[in-house]
Amino acid sequence: MTGGTSGIGREVARRFGEAGAVIVVDIREQPEEDDESAPTHELIEDNDGRAEFIETDVSDPTDVGAVVEAAREFGGVGVMVNNAGIYREASLIETDDDAFDQVFAINVRGVFAGCRAAARDMLEREEPGSIVNTASISSEYAQVGHSMYDASKGAVMMLTRVAALELARYDIRVNAVAPGIIETTFGDGNPDFDRELGDGFILNDADLPDLNAREIDPEIPMGRTGTPDDLAGSYLFPSSDERLD
Ligand code: NAD
Repeated sequence: MTGGTSGIGREVARRFGEAGAVIVVDIREQPEEDDESAPTHELIEDNDGRAEFIETDVSDPTDVGAVVEAAREFGGVGVMVNNAGIYREASLIETDDDAFDQVFAINVRGVFAGCRAAARDMLEREEPGSIVNTASISSEYAQVGHSMYDASKGAVMMLTRVAALELARYDIRVNAVAPGIIETTFGDGNPDFDRELGDGFILNDADLPDLNAREIDPEIPMGRTGTPDDLAGSYLFPSSDERLD
């Protein structure tokens, strides 16, 4: 379960923890800066589940492979959830190459590495399995200032389709969940990123609409944004015996 420390991934990991052992993979263990919330693996263990945290940057395919290797201790990867992702905003003309590369390294190559490592493990063990990737409404819906993010999530959707086609014959199912706007701290910023990129990176370009301030609820038929709890079941369903074959 990548990106399992906070937001959507935390809730999905918690729910999977009710069904089996979970490896929580993330660049950080603490969900909050103030250390007040328990890490996800502790939450699962407190609920009599089995879980472990492995600090991993999904943009490094070798590290992602090592996590899957570590899962052998639990009997191998039955379900791989590739959920870690970042959000960066900039106008196309001002987007820095490093910013683009970082978004793609995490959002696309991270998912690719997770799919590949999990599929190799399942094939080696000759076991069926399920892979669920976090795409986005942005996989198909273009927004101003979203060239890096929307392109990355479009890639996740197509990667999911190709992987599903290739792996179906081995009884490995590959699906994507494409959330709309979900209440998490997503996009609140990565200080290291700002520091590394300097002036070329713009979080709130004056030429862009203030996406955080806009009225989004009226665009959503239910009149409210989603929650991780709304979504979690859609990750469990394709990984369960209740699935549609
Ligand atoms: P979040 O920021 O709470 O969760 C993202 C998690 O990924 C964090 O725990 C973060 O530490 C981790 N992460 C970031 N970079 C990483 C890296 N290099 N390696 C390992 N872990 C890393 O936000 P969220 O809303 O829960 O986002 C989860 C996924 O949902 C993302 O892929 C995001 O694109 C997608 N999504 C979110 C929304 C939304 O509105 N919140 C909508 C559509 C899709």
